[in-house]
Amino acid sequence: MELFQKTASELSALLQRGEVSARELTEAMASRTEQVEKTVGAYISTDFDAAMRRASEIDEKRAAGEALSPLAGIPVAVKDNICTKGTKTTCASKMLENFVPFYNATVVDKLNEAGLVITGKTNLDEFAMGSSCENSALQKTCNPHNPAHVPGGSSGGSAAVVAAGEVPLAVGSDTGGSIRQPASFCGVVGLKPTYGTVSRYGLIAFASSLDQIGPMARSVEDAALLADVLRGADPMHDSTSVPRTYDSLYANLNADMKGVRIGLPEEYFGDGIDAAVSKAVLDASETYRALGAEIVPISLPLSKYALPIYYILSSAEASSNLARFDGVKYGYRTAQADELIDVYVKSRSEAFGPEVQRRIMLGTYVLSSGYYDAYYKKARAAQRAIRADYAKAFEQVDVILTPTAPTTAYRIGEKTDDPLQMYMGDICTVSVNIAGLPGLVQPCGFDSNRLPIGMQLIGPRFGEQALLNAGLAFERASGLSNIVAQ
Ligand code: GLN
Repeated sequence: MELFQKTASELSALLQRGEVSARELTEAMASRTEQVEKTVGAYISTDFDAAMRRASEIDEKRAAGEALSPLAGIPVAVKDNICTKGTKTTCASKMLENFVPFYNATVVDKLNEAGLVITGKTNLDEFAMGSSCENSALQKTCNPHNPAHVPGGSSGGSAAVVAAGEVPLAVGSDTGGSIRQPASFCGVVGLKPTYGTVSRYGLIAFASSLDQIGPMARSVEDAALLADVLRGADPMHDSTSVPRTYDSLYANLNADMKGVRIGLPEEYFGDGIDAAVSKAVLDASETYRALGAEIVPISLPLSKYALPIYYILSSAEASSNLARFDGVKYGYRTAQADELIDVYVKSRSEAFGPEVQRRIMLGTYVLSSGYYDAYYKKARAAQRAIRADYAKAFEQVDVILTPTAPTTAYRIGEKTDDPLQMYMGDICTVSVNIAGLPGLVQPCGFDSNRLPIGMQLIGPRFGEQALLNAGLAFERASGLSNIVAQ
């Protein structure tokens, strides 16, 4: 087995035993990237020179006997909507194509403190708006399992880079499914943490009340290791970060499923979900039953409202968050403007892609005085009802098991002409953000075209440990772990 085929925890063991150096590891990732990146296109930018320097520092620290964290020396890729000091952070938008932040996101500082080696920045749908990566204004990313298919989105670059073995770990962000759905499409593990547990400082905002950064990896253990690095209160920089301390998810992993109650919501297995997807997830529930879990049929009756609620709330917030890109302070500025209003209108019209403009228009509409009560206010009220729906379900069960997306990865171009079709693909993931809950996605099978199928485990607030435990149990029982697309 080559280095690029190993998980972060396997690599960590090799590093700790001195059987491989961080430099060798980074070199291995650079050559794998060289080999597959032409087809996959997951990175917007890489800096393997900087990564090699960083790897040398870690090697020196290890040689000097310094105590290092478990992921010290492990390469990681970062979604390009997360600020990295001194290197471009583009949001895959013409608006920020040349934007170089002068500060690091809190999570980037945390990666550095833990000794991880950042290899580069990954592609996404422009400003994280999309489900296939096709809205990137900068480049195309393909699904490593079949380059004719999309990798999912918006964290499609982070999912693809991990699935292709270019790096064992990546960081993504999830507003309505952007970690989980591409994880599902690319056959990797992705965790969307409880809202408020990972700092959003330095994450370029899409919808602030829904956005959350999280880990992507090829095993549940790896996701737990990276989640441990990313989590933590950030009172100085993010007022929505929860003031609490966290026990190590990795150290507390426990795959014993005896007596664990797993809910299967009937609304997630009906019309509109591909038969192969439903079957794979229901088969997973049988695996759990065999492991001693109790399978409980439940209902989340408000699920059908999640999609409109999500698109109203997220677009409203996006329209407000993206108002700062006005061609004046930073970002793209039109070359031709005679007066101030021209600067605004032309800069924004020229630099925002069609999907971003659509969301801004929709958001502005639902926030405008005549429609605020009818749409925005109603959506907020409905959000509370969705939360209550979940709270009720979690009186009966410990975790909820669902599909991640109605289909497996579709063909590139298949849905680009029909935004509503694209939005429908988010049906299984958005309610988790609306309710602020954690969600874990991992592979549970393949369809007839050998494209991965992902299952989603949803937990109560701060229920990450229960999700990862259940994820680990399934991974061990099914052997569906560390899938590297060749
Ligand atoms: N696909 C969803 C959207 O387009 C989710 C995006 C996200 O989670 N960033 O809004």
